[in-house]
This record gives sequence, C-alpha cells and structure tokens, in this order.
Amino acid sequence: MTAFKQVPAIYHRQLGRFLVTALCDGYMAYENFEIFTDPDQNKLAACLAAETRVAPPVISINAFLVRDGVRTILVDCGSGDIMGPTCGHLPDLLEQLDVPLDCITDILLTHIHPDHSNGLTDPVTGMKHFPNAMVHVHQEEIRHWFDDDAKAKATERQKRVYFDAGRIQITPYRDGCVRTFDQECEIFPGISVLPSTGHTPGHSCFIFRSDGEAMIIWGDTVHVPEVQLAYPDVGMIFDTDNLAAARSRRKILQRCVDENLLVGGMHIHFPGFARIRQGYDGEYRFVAEQWYHAAHHGQSF
Ligand SMILES: [Zn+2]
Repeated sequence: MTAFKQVPAIYHRQLGRFLVTALCDGYMAYENFEIFTDPDQNKLAACLAAETRVAPPVISINAFLVRDGVRTILVDCGSGDIMGPTCGHLPDLLEQLDVPLDCITDILLTHIHPDHSNGLTDPVTGMKHFPNAMVHVHQEEIRHWFDDDAKAKATERQKRVYFDAGRIQITPYRDGCVRTFDQECEIFPGISVLPSTGHTPGHSCFIFRSDGEAMIIWGDTVHVPEVQLAYPDVGMIFDTDNLAAARSRRKILQRCVDENLLVGGMHIHFPGFARIRQGYDGEYRFVAEQWYHAAHHGQSF
C-alpha cells in the first residue's frame, strides 16, 4: 500500500489584526486508556465511538504562530525531536512559511511539558533554537520544575520527562530571556494571560482580542474533547493536580460559552479551532470551526 504524504499541516486564520497560523507538530497515538484518570473504559470508548474517533485516542500536538506586523509570536513551540517519529515537525513548518527561527520575537508558553516546550533548546548542544525570543511563562512553572524537593517526590519517569527535560529546555533562556507572570494581565496590547492552574502548577491560557473578535489559546485545558466536554471531570495522568485541573477546565469551558470565544487548542484535532456550546445534558459541546479557504488580511507579513 502506498503511504501518501499529506500537505504541510499549516492553517491560517485571521483574527482582527492578528494572523494566527496553526502548526501541527505531530500527534501521539496511545495504546490504552490508562492516560485517563477515569477507570470506566466503556464510557471512554463510547464517547470516542460516538464521535467516530479511534480508541484509544490519537491526540494532535499543535502550536500557534501569531503575527501582527510587529511581533512574531509562537504560542508553545512543539516537542523537539525526542518524542518519536510522529512528532517534531514544527521547525519544518516554520521553514515552509519562510519564518526563520531567529525571527521569533516571543514565545508564550502555556506550560512546561515536553509536547509544548521541548522545541526551545537543542538538548545535545544546549543551544537555543530561538536565539532572539523572550519566553513568557507563569512563575509557578519555573518555581515548580526547578524545585528539587518536588522533583525528589516524583516518579523516575516524571523526573526525566518533566523535571530534567524542562530544566534543559528553559535554562539557556534564563540569561534574561524569561519573563514571568503570576496573575491575569495584559502582556502586549490585545494579548492577555489567563492562569488556569491544575494541569501543571502554572498552566495558563492566552486571550487575543482585536476588532471585536476574541480567541483563547487554551493549552491543555482539554486533551480529548470527545471525552472531556461530555465529562469535564475526567482528568489525565499528566495532570499535576487532577481536581484543580478539572475546576479550571469547567471555568474555562463556561467562559468560552459565555463570551463566545474562538478556541485554539494544542490537542484539538488540527487545525485546532472551535467554539464551545452548552451541551444538551448540561455539560458542553464542541463545535469545530468551519474551514476558511483563505485568511483575508490587509497586511503582508
Ligand atoms: Zn500537552
């Protein structure tokens, strides 16, 4: 059987003055349901089957490039080259777009986890992949992943995959190129941060507003929409604090409904844009945005 190569996973979406480009770094295919904290595998499988998804799930990894003619921003930066052959495509996609890595002015990190932050640094040489970028991240992310006491309590896998990898990725930027925040605030005109902790101690969303439109890039608020919109309390084993993550998930989902926010999701199936509606049974419904054939914008980037 011939395996056809897809076109590059790049999708542009204009949001007022921002040109938002979804980039699919790749995907993770899981072999069992143990990534969920809920032991009811029949329920989980039924959610996926109802949405015609494979079970156990395949989860996209997206990052978002946001350009406004002044800044060239990446929201998360892919998984680098240590998560296997299905991941790590972000640098190729930036090359396809003619966006050299040294043109990235800012990296907004939703959190420090390998599929979001391992694209920052070459782990072999310790060199930054983005030599001119300022990294913006919640201060609790830095505090927690550099905390030796927290690391001592972690499993061997967590030590290696989260604590060690996080330190390798962030350390080169601690030469004055990490800017932290600790509360909801505006970091650039029209771009604000909304902490939503639980998945990790400083997990945060970013909200972009322009010309009456608003989009939230919600990081890992939801990993598997087919399951976690119907059952927002279902957590993932990757959560640092399941209960806090579920509380944050409910809060963000309700805000998406109330404010009709466009959602950009790291683990929503590419191209990763959707809106959230109230579900028929009181929970939530995921409405993927239609494909626009062209991103209309007046500026050239
Ligand atoms: Zn993730």
